[in-house]
Amino acid sequence: MAQKYPVDYRVNTQNGQILSVEVTCCQRRIGEIRFKDGQSIKCPGCATVHLLRLQHNHFHISQEKA
Ligand SMILES: [Zn+2]
Repeated sequence: MAQKYPVDYRVNTQNGQILSVEVTCCQRRIGEIRFKDGQSIKCPGCATVHLLRLQHNHFHISQEKA
């Protein structure tokens, strides 16, 4: 499913709670981050850092180029 998108965030939920986010970058799954403020993962392909920022009623998933 995610394979046709270069970058994809798959948000896993259970009973309405967000558990984790699986990150796809450069068209491959690079790993999973826990749903916690400040969690990040770096793509080994392009060195982009995918960063999760949790705030009081929303969250962001940002990208930072290394
Ligand atoms: Zn990448």
